[in-house]
Amino acid sequence: MNQKKKRQSMILYVLIAIAVLLVLRTVVYPTFDTQKVSEVDYSTFVSMVGDNQVTQVQLDENNKTISFKTGDGDSATYYKTNQFPGDTDLVKRLTEHNVPFSAEPVQNSNSNLGWIVLMIYGLPILALVLGGWLLNRQLKKSMTDDDEGPSMNFGGGGFPGGFGGLGGFGKSGAKVVAQKATGVTFKDVAGQDEAKESLEEIVSFLEKPKRYESIGAKLPRGALLVGPPGTGKTLLAKAVAGEAGVPFFNIAGSEFVEMFVGRGAAKVRDLFKQANEKAPCIVFIDEIDTVGKRRDAGLTTNDEREQTLNQLLTEMDGFDNHKGIVVLGATNRPDTLDQALLRPGRFDRRIPVELPDLAGRKAILLLHANDVKMDSDIDLDIIARATPGASGADLSNIINEAALRAVRMGRQKVSQEDLTEAVEVVIAGEKRKSTVLSEEEKKIVSYHEIGHAIVAAAQKKQAPVSKITIVPRTSGALGYTMQVEEDEHFLVSKQEAMEQLSVLCGGRASEELIFKEITTGASNDIERATKLARNMVTQYGMSDKFGMVALGEINNRYLGGNSDLVCSEGTAQEIDIEVQNLVETAHQNALRILKENQFKLHELARYLQVKETITGEEFMRLFKNEGLKDIPQTGASQASTSQASETEKDKKQ
Ligand code: ADP
Ligand code: MG
Ligand code: ZN
Repeated sequence: MNQKKKRQSMILYVLIAIAVLLVLRTVVYPTFDTQKVSEVDYSTFVSMVGDNQVTQVQLDENNKTISFKTGDGDSATYYKTNQFPGDTDLVKRLTEHNVPFSAEPVQNSNSNLGWIVLMIYGLPILALVLGGWLLNRQLKKSMTDDDEGPSMNFGGGGFPGGFGGLGGFGKSGAKVVAQKATGVTFKDVAGQDEAKESLEEIVSFLEKPKRYESIGAKLPRGALLVGPPGTGKTLLAKAVAGEAGVPFFNIAGSEFVEMFVGRGAAKVRDLFKQANEKAPCIVFIDEIDTVGKRRDAGLTTNDEREQTLNQLLTEMDGFDNHKGIVVLGATNRPDTLDQALLRPGRFDRRIPVELPDLAGRKAILLLHANDVKMDSDIDLDIIARATPGASGADLSNIINEAALRAVRMGRQKVSQEDLTEAVEVVIAGEKRKSTVLSEEEKKIVSYHEIGHAIVAAAQKKQAPVSKITIVPRTSGALGYTMQVEEDEHFLVSKQEAMEQLSVLCGGRASEELIFKEITTGASNDIERATKLARNMVTQYGMSDKFGMVALGEINNRYLGGNSDLVCSEGTAQEIDIEVQNLVETAHQNALRILKENQFKLHELARYLQVKETITGEEFMRLFKNEGLKDIPQTGASQASTSQASETEKDKKQ
């Protein structure tokens, strides 16, 4: 749609709104307002003051009117007159006659009522009219899919005073609108203390750019927030703006890259022009790797992207940094960024925003738990321990899933069980009701899972088993064994890595041992075991053959971290053999452990097959022969355990 028409229809709508307001005002005003206020001319006013009749005067600078009253209380009469510009002695005269005067309205409840009624009727109508216009505009936009593209950023949306988005009407289509207040502060970001600390300085710079200028200190023009998805990069950028109380320009890198060459560059120019007007402010470019990709990377060149990047580089060199403009960028692929972006004077500061550690996860859970009603005996620590590797976004999702589950269950508050279930939903997917395992399959899955659990429990350095289940999940898992670390640790010893490999092999080993047959159920275990073994060889220097030689190079560290081999073809073959050896050693180890515990394997697998889900505690008690006296059981499971314990007794005799 063409810009001019758009502007015209906007003006039309505003005019209608004003007209409606005016009509309302004139209809409503007389009944409630003018009834008691008589208009007199200025000379009458002066003489009434002279006669000491006037008891109070109020001046209105804007309307150039004087409202005044005679008498008091019930007998008060209200007047108004137009200010006489030539009368310079008004104040003097009023003081002489002891008339109290002020610049506020003389209290006339009726006239206020007029305005209140106007507000009650008028504002909704105004809102309706404006809303209608916006809707209309949106519809037209989506129908014609005009040349403007998805560039409008209604930054104000969702926040109080969110009409900020209206600021951009009638100007160039390539418009980014500053968000006046992001409504986010550092308090809303948990567990990112290092990142917050690095950003504090930027906040203080934005608050008082002068202080830095007077000393001659140059502040970074740009800082790059680097980390895996969902760790709070966008949130932190908003928090910086919120803390400093400056406008926030938010644009995603992909918004620059358009179909037509030159549009992206124009947008960059426009963005910085606006930022310059609004300084001090923050310009936030999310997913900056979409524009900032290394220019020589790959064979496909993208003229548009290159031009946009060049424009960005130019703007970042050019803007007047004394005014307090800080460009923040966020990316989870820092390795692909163009070097030119990273040199001093541009994004010279790199702020890592890593996955939260145990304490961080707990803090994030606590923060989001504040928004939800929870039972008083909730233990978030367990949840934090059960979620290593979860990002802030995952954790906030877990809290929300728990709340949704509480609602589904018809409860008023979130319980611990909701949270535990939510963790599984986020990790393994929703329970799949449609998949019904046959008894035979259930049996196999039970032996498989108990195989994992026993290998874990029989080894020293393994995290305790916290839950075993054979309820299928939407992720495709037919069952799983959950292990939860007591404490977080950051170093993994070679022994631990080997034990982990054995645990992963435990499922398949159990199937082999019991059924003399193997199934597809171990595919995920195999994938994970292979990856771990490969990393042990190529990255951790844990193989005897290669020792401390790096044979792989990690790509996309923040997006899963695949590694590419950097070695000769011959070595690659040897690596494969080494990986096979590691996994096979672990496999044999798992088989040995399961053979040694074969009776337990039968007992526990039968128990699991009946109960479908057992807790780590139940598992450990049975495994250590402590019985299940104080754990309530269903009749069926009792039958199966008693049978199993008989076998156990036989063994002992
Ligand atoms: P990123 O930009 O790093 O991908 P976001 O900032 O968009 O991640 O985070 C997504 C959501 O996850 C946030 O809106 C917030 O609810 C939650 N979140 C992520 N990290 C944190 C954190 N450190 N503290 C609190 N909430 C967080
Ligand atoms: Mg983001
Ligand atoms: Zn398995």
